[in-house]
Amino acid sequence: MICLGIESTAHTFGVGVFDGKARANEKAVYRTMGGIHPREASQFMCTHAAEVAEAALEKAGIGLGDVDAFAFAQGPGLGPCLRVGAAVGQALAGYYGKPVVGVNHCVAHIDVGKWNRKARDPLVAYVSGANTQILGLNGGRYRVYGETLDIGMGNALDVFGRSIGLEFPAGPAIEKLAAKGKKFHFLPYSVKGMDLAFAGLVTAASKSKIPRADLCHSFQETVFAMLVEVSERALAHTKKEELMLVGGVAQNKRLGAMLSQMAEEHGAKFFVPENQYNADNGLMIALTGWKMLRAKVRQGGLKTNQKWRTDEVAIAW
Ligand code: AMP
Ligand code: MG
Repeated sequence: MICLGIESTAHTFGVGVFDGKARANEKAVYRTMGGIHPREASQFMCTHAAEVAEAALEKAGIGLGDVDAFAFAQGPGLGPCLRVGAAVGQALAGYYGKPVVGVNHCVAHIDVGKWNRKARDPLVAYVSGANTQILGLNGGRYRVYGETLDIGMGNALDVFGRSIGLEFPAGPAIEKLAAKGKKFHFLPYSVKGMDLAFAGLVTAASKSKIPRADLCHSFQETVFAMLVEVSERALAHTKKEELMLVGGVAQNKRLGAMLSQMAEEHGAKFFVPENQYNADNGLMIALTGWKMLRAKVRQGGLKTNQKWRTDEVAIAW
């Protein structure tokens, strides 16, 4: 079965082709000086959808008529962006008379990581722009052991980055600056039970007069330590033998090193997928769609759902 998957939750329009193996993973990424403007991002997607799909089909060496099933990211995400992928996926499926399935973006991040690194049953630290959750599969669902109470960690990095003049997404530039930082300065550290809050840290750092490299270093150490603390408690509680870091922020090497050290101290294996699968991508949607269709699963209709939580998805694949 050849499944073509479409990602369009926020800034990336991605098209992936999966048939048991990864055949293509192409994308176009919206960049901006401010935050993501949902309508502008969706217009960017409309403009680039056809060329990204063509590039993916060419890479996979197939035509649209060869595709057996279509998948699209149904949520969570920005409404106007989600609707682009949903419209393209459903229009193609309708035209070619093929099945179409809506995929939960967060679950797809986990599925692609497990496939990429051959992880079996990891505790998952999922950190992206809009989402930050500690998850573990238990009784057929990814249970949320801890999560952000306000914004996602990636958004925290991006908002702070904007305040010091960095372009969106700011995470990679902050990582580079942080590597040059030497002195650690205390910033607000906000862990509430198993949950995290970033707003106070972002406000304090955005107003700070600390030199940029030291500030980025201090920001990263603080925000990553918060995640390590709750991940460690979840690992001890669940007794899982694997820890996997996924999502856009998982591309950060310092975060990977901190979690890896913690996992080692607990005798757990640590995994982090390749960057092309941590950044939003079409392949992860194709892969989860492929798994769902193979397991004959269809999630509640085809309407997009901006607030679709990870723990609402019954995992039957
Ligand atoms: P996603 O929402 O999964 O597409 O992830 C996008 C988020 O990942 C943005 O907030 C980026 O700033 C963040 N990000 C990307 N690369 C890095 C990095 N190297 N370090 C920290 N954050 C990153
Ligand atoms: Mg994502």
